[in-house]
Amino acid sequence: MGSLELFAKENNVPIIQKDGLNFLINFIKENNVKNILEIGTAIGYSAINMALISSDINITTIERNKQMYDLAKENVKKFNLENRINLIFGDALETIVDGTYDLIFIDAAKAQYIKFFERYKSNLSKKGAIITDNLNFHGLTAHPEKIHSKNLKALVSKINNYRNFLKQNQEFRTKFYEVGDGIAVSKME
Ligand code: SAH
Ligand code: MG
Repeated sequence: MGSLELFAKENNVPIIQKDGLNFLINFIKENNVKNILEIGTAIGYSAINMALISSDINITTIERNKQMYDLAKENVKKFNLENRINLIFGDALETIVDGTYDLIFIDAAKAQYIKFFERYKSNLSKKGAIITDNLNFHGLTAHPEKIHSKNLKALVSKINNYRNFLKQNQEFRTKFYEVGDGIAVSKME
């Protein structure tokens, strides 16, 4: 797996952090997750790692950046996972996905998290979970006063809106974990 991590590092691809990935892997094992929908493929690092847990895990993953999508396609092929990782090229705010999933992993544009959540919650199986990554955003969500850039301020405030959206949500109960870059696990009440 080292080569994907190295590529990500050298090319500034924001793949999931190591302990975040371990958290995800444990969650998948403990909850016997078999079908996963991922929003935000990048180079396929998280999808490949989730697929490698067990040969009966299937993943559908959506990516809007063509370069990333092409890289992910190559990487999935290298790992011989074409039959278990279904790569969709498109904007997840427009893609229509049918079927239900045991796990929906939201890891795409942070400003759109509420929209992704609302759009895909109907694809979640009854006992399934929606996991969201990057809720701490390198510690910035807890300390917005440290930010000077206007764009970054706006983004951090969107992430905090999402955190509040989850906290106040009547349909889902969410637990926040201080692992990796901040992970939330939301389950239907
Ligand atoms: N899950 C990956 C990392 C994803 S990085 C891993 O841990 O290995 C976030 C990716 O989401 C980027 O490649 C970006 O292009 C993609 N993305 C952002 N907004 C999107 C959208 N609306 N639809 C599809 N992909 C999106
Ligand atoms: Mg992430």
